Amino acid sequence: MPSNEGLGLGVAVAGRTRTHPFRVLVLGGSYGGLGAALNLLDLCNGRPARFSSDQVQPLNRGKIPVDITVVDERDGYYHLIASPLAFASAAFAPKVWTKFEEIPALKNIRFVRGSVRSVDPKSRRATVTVTGTGTGTETETELNYDFLVAATGLRRVWPVVPQATTREGYLVVANAQIRSVRDAQEGVVVVGGGAVGIEMAAEIKLVMPAQKVTLIHSRDKLCSSEPLPDDFKDTCLTKLREAGVETIMGERVLGTETETVEENGAVRSRSTLNLSSGRTIRASEVIYAISRSLPTSQYLPATVVDEEGYIKITPSLSFPEEVSNSQYHFAVGDLTKWSGIKRCGGAMHQGQYAAQNIHQLMLQEMQGTAPKFMELSEVPPMICIAIGNQAVAHYPTQGTKVGSDILQLFFENDLGNRICWDHMQLGKEFPETVAGEATL
Ligand SMILES: Cc1cc2nc3c(=O)[nH]c(=O)nc-3n(C[C@H](O)[C@H](O)[C@H](O)COP(=O)(O)OP(=O)(O)OC[C@H]3O[C@@H](n4cnc5c(N)ncnc54)[C@H](O)[C@@H]3O)c2cc1C
Repeated sequence: MPSNEGLGLGVAVAGRTRTHPFRVLVLGGSYGGLGAALNLLDLCNGRPARFSSDQVQPLNRGKIPVDITVVDERDGYYHLIASPLAFASAAFAPKVWTKFEEIPALKNIRFVRGSVRSVDPKSRRATVTVTGTGTGTETETELNYDFLVAATGLRRVWPVVPQATTREGYLVVANAQIRSVRDAQEGVVVVGGGAVGIEMAAEIKLVMPAQKVTLIHSRDKLCSSEPLPDDFKDTCLTKLREAGVETIMGERVLGTETETVEENGAVRSRSTLNLSSGRTIRASEVIYAISRSLPTSQYLPATVVDEEGYIKITPSLSFPEEVSNSQYHFAVGDLTKWSGIKRCGGAMHQGQYAAQNIHQLMLQEMQGTAPKFMELSEVPPMICIAIGNQAVAHYPTQGTKVGSDILQLFFENDLGNRICWDHMQLGKEFPETVAGEATL
């Protein structure tokens, strides 16, 4: 673990030498944030960036001293996209949350558990409410930085994602949810037929084949708010029904009445859902997968974001030019205003580009080289949804594809847990550390 020295005020730069490492503050330790931190660690150690496809060595293989701090509300890496399986399988749930301190690849990165409250680009200082001190109290701290990467994603509600910030707390709620679904005597209803609702319904049915699972969607087509072709949406519906999920399409849930009933000595809740057609549906467990997820950018000045709160990045992922010190500020992942459906692959890709561009700026400062920035292209709509034992994908070059081979390719049998872990090389610890004197 690096020392805390790098967070102090003042960085002395004298020509090509620095007396302190570059301080890089990454807000959010998920796909985008970890992608940025790990690729930057590679480059500063003279290795090719781990996400770089050509694996060409950087031109200058010298080391650049860097001190990376990641701030996250959670105490670990949570493989978010496997939530639908994690909330259906007690055997799987523990596998998707790994404490940062137990991840070999992150040994040379400092973690602060806390919530970012404000960022002042002009003074390059962030204020963080620190929660993970072990004392049970919150403290406020200021972190100074040379470069910032904002990667705090979207605020999503329960039960789409756990609200717990510790692994222990997450396991308590995940296991309670799994019990509720398993014991739902009158079945489970999932409200909302977007990608998340489809996967939640399908994973419950996959893990608990005897359970009655019904998905209700207000439109005639699934994924109705996504700019995807009808053949993709129709294939999702066919596969969902084949997986054993009952579907009610084109009906809105107007209200839900919940009562508690006693059955065989146990107290259970039972809900009655009133639908727009006048029909009523009974269920023991109702899962809402319809809430809009909102950007977590409240800690940034208004000039950085659009009217919805998405960060207005340039193609090289930096903050908009009108923001002070914009060249030292980057944003990646779901939080950014960029084309394409929000995906973890996109977040990781953006993390790599931000790392390469920060590295270019470091080289400029230390060697006087002209920076060559990686720039994002426009991203067409693309998606892949796991539906039981199959997956349905839509990619612009290949159109709609479906099958168990597609599931294997994109998710394997753990909703991409192994794939993402290995892509980020989280299990691999590099021996070298980059804090210290520059060797350039
Ligand atoms: C159920 C579900 C299934 C999905 N399935 C897929 C899929 O199959 N394929 C796919 O490509 N994408 C999928 N997605 C989308 C994918 O999860 C996102 O695109 C991806 O998580 C974005 O990564 P990110 O790093 O930008 O943000 P996130 O993964 O949201 O991470 C943000 C991090 O920032 C932290 N944070 C937030 N606010 C603060 C704050 N103020 N201070 C400190 N820390 C903070 C959070 O704790 C979190 O660790 C799915 C999403 C959901 C919800």
